[in-house]
Amino acid sequence: MSDLKAPIAVRCTPELVYNYAAGRYGSLFLQGLKEGRILASRCRRCARTLVPPRLACTGCFGAMEDAVELEPRGELLAFTLVAFPFLDPFTGIQRPIPYCYGMVRFAGADNTFQYFLSEKDPAKLRVGQPVRAVFRAAAERVGEMADLLYFEPGIGG
Ligand SMILES: [Zn+2]
Repeated sequence: MSDLKAPIAVRCTPELVYNYAAGRYGSLFLQGLKEGRILASRCRRCARTLVPPRLACTGCFGAMEDAVELEPRGELLAFTLVAFPFLDPFTGIQRPIPYCYGMVRFAGADNTFQYFLSEKDPAKLRVGQPVRAVFRAAAERVGEMADLLYFEPGIGG
């Protein structure tokens, strides 16, 4: 009978670099961000407007073939404070904590859009507050989600 030995462990840190196609509608949205614009899709059948653009309408399941530009402003519908370490899914880098994350309805949209807020103190936020989308400087935009920096709370409302 042979002696049992501890298994040999091999340690490595694989680097997994990959690209994936954003698709027709995702590419439309990312191209819009690169241009500092918020693009949505509108349903010809029921007139629903959804952001980001998508193939099928969530209201009537019809094809969404029309792209429309929305104003880069909306209303804050909900928000939360994120205080635990978290990898930003768009960059793979840990975001500095704490930060606030919000659910925004763009003016003219029928759905909500969730993204980062510039405000880090939830006591300074309220449901119904107007917000505006803030983009990277034009020369720094590359056509990725991070081109949209955050939503900044506005005054009034
Ligand atoms: Zn529809």
